[in-house]
Amino acid sequence: MANSHMLSTEALADLRKRYRSERERRVRPDGVRQYLGADAEFGYYAADPYAGEAAEREPVRDKVDVAVVGGGFGGILAGARLRQRGVERVRVIETGGDFGGTWYWNRYPGIHCDVESHVYLPLLDETGYVPEWKYAPGEEIRRHAVRIAEKFDLCADALFSTSVTSLTWDDTSEAWIVTTDRGDTFRATYVITATGTLSELKLPGIPGIETFKGHTFHTSRWDYDYTGGTPDGGLTGLAGKRVGVVGTGATGIQVVPKLAEDAGHLYVFQRTPSTVDERGNRRTTAEDVGAGRPGWARERRDNFLRIVAGETTDEDLVADRWTASAGLLEKLLPSFRRQGDRAAFEAAYEAADAVKMNEIRARVEQIVTDPETAEKLKPWYRYACKRPTFSDFYLQAFNRDNVTLVDTADTHGIERMTERGVVVGDTEYELDCLVFATGFSVGVSGIHSGRLPVRGRQGVKLQDAWRERGPRTLHGFTSNGFPNLIQLGGTQSASSVNYTHVLDEHAVHAAALVVAAETAGALIEPSRETEDDWIAVLADGAPDHEWFHAECTPGYYNAEGRGRPNGPVAYPHGAVAFHDLLRRWREESMDEALNTRTALPDQKL
Ligand code: NDP
Repeated sequence: MANSHMLSTEALADLRKRYRSERERRVRPDGVRQYLGADAEFGYYAADPYAGEAAEREPVRDKVDVAVVGGGFGGILAGARLRQRGVERVRVIETGGDFGGTWYWNRYPGIHCDVESHVYLPLLDETGYVPEWKYAPGEEIRRHAVRIAEKFDLCADALFSTSVTSLTWDDTSEAWIVTTDRGDTFRATYVITATGTLSELKLPGIPGIETFKGHTFHTSRWDYDYTGGTPDGGLTGLAGKRVGVVGTGATGIQVVPKLAEDAGHLYVFQRTPSTVDERGNRRTTAEDVGAGRPGWARERRDNFLRIVAGETTDEDLVADRWTASAGLLEKLLPSFRRQGDRAAFEAAYEAADAVKMNEIRARVEQIVTDPETAEKLKPWYRYACKRPTFSDFYLQAFNRDNVTLVDTADTHGIERMTERGVVVGDTEYELDCLVFATGFSVGVSGIHSGRLPVRGRQGVKLQDAWRERGPRTLHGFTSNGFPNLIQLGGTQSASSVNYTHVLDEHAVHAAALVVAAETAGALIEPSRETEDDWIAVLADGAPDHEWFHAECTPGYYNAEGRGRPNGPVAYPHGAVAFHDLLRRWREESMDEALNTRTALPDQKL
């Protein structure tokens, strides 16, 4: 991590001081409570703008082999991997009107994935598809999601515009009873939950938000009827209009340049600037990425995962700003713990981080012509405190005459809203339209939060079972008392910036569990002792986040400045080691870990 541009001790001390004061400017006593969900009077913010009226259909009352909750990449990959293993009746239940998950909901102008398309889009080897851009537009990704679902025949049995309302284990028939908000009640021998991590939009709890008479919507439900245009731009409906956007995270950074092109005037309400690094999107050919050779996509994806997980590789196939900054991003993973001398590691980390952040701040100065605006756009925190962003258009947008940056850090965000617009300090900004690029709630979707009630053996609620001692799983997938229930992409496993890769490894594992249980006539259910053993593995070597998060600016990474939750939440040795561990476990231990089934033979699939 040593770097020739290392800063002096004094410069580092000054930086630390600045980071602390910038953090203090932003920490709010109400923490995560500052946000509103899209419920009750704000429920309309979550309405599906793409599906239209959900078509009438008869409620479903039958039995399937596997119910998959969620039709994003997690659910699609689970379905695909089950199909590859010969499982027949797989039913995906999805709130949206089609497959795609986050790429179904998010269709805002400028939307792209900032993880390279050749590693982000799953099952490229299997579908024969080769992305055309280094960073794919959202619509290409959404179409690929549908492509996989079609290839693996997941469409016919899927239930769209349908939300699961309860999952109840029936001890007698040894099956799950699934109910939905469309009146369905059906049974499934296995349930896989793939409900996503950032799927519930949130709004800022700005006093007076409900009084605003102009038009508003959240970026994850873009209102093209109002703005005109498409994700490529051409928002002709905004011509001559005063438009505001709240939020400058990974979404805001992509939206702002498109709004700037077409709005009469754009006000960008910023609380914390993002790090905005170069992106360098470009068209790619099959030759560029070695496509065509069997296994090319898997090889590239594995290479990327190794690099961002801090592992050593001979070459860097993706070679972008993610891989270049890997040492800073994975501060909590293997590269951190292998350093031995913790103080020396922290010092080296801090120094390298300062160099990177100085580069990021210098880039702002180079691009933004107005010095006052440039100063406000400089981020003062460590690189990995917030999701890094990448754009070759965002900072440039502030050089336009019709774009104004409004810094709201001193008032902890927008102070209040009126019928006419937004108030910050002494100024009321009158607006025709306000777009919320304010992100998503963490930890509220899925079965952990209780939003989707899950009852296991003897009617015990999952939340009650975990109330005292926290989540208890084996590998993050399965829990005692909740047989044949598999969670995908959840707590107590390992994650990565290339989340679809993680989901695919999880999907392979889930499919293997289902097939092994079928073959053995057994239930998938870890013993309490196995759960204890897994918790011990998680706790052993779990990195101490505190030194890092203590100086981080607030955001969803650190529960708005409060730090990480207590207790082991992730496998501490990173995604590469976790996937190896899963593979070994499947080969050596899976069969004996299954519970002997007591059901009657006719309850089998
Ligand atoms: P974020 O949570 O990252 O950003 C929300 C923004 O809203 C922040 O800038 C926040 O400021 C601001 N905000 C919230 N409340 C207020 C307020 N009261 N006044 C002013 N500003 C406010 O959401 P995003 O949708 O941008 O991104 C969420 C995640 O989605 C990303 O982190 C990433 O994981 C994923 N994503 C991935 C993309 C990709 O290309 N792969 C693209 C887009 C999103 P503050 O920082 O001060 O809290």
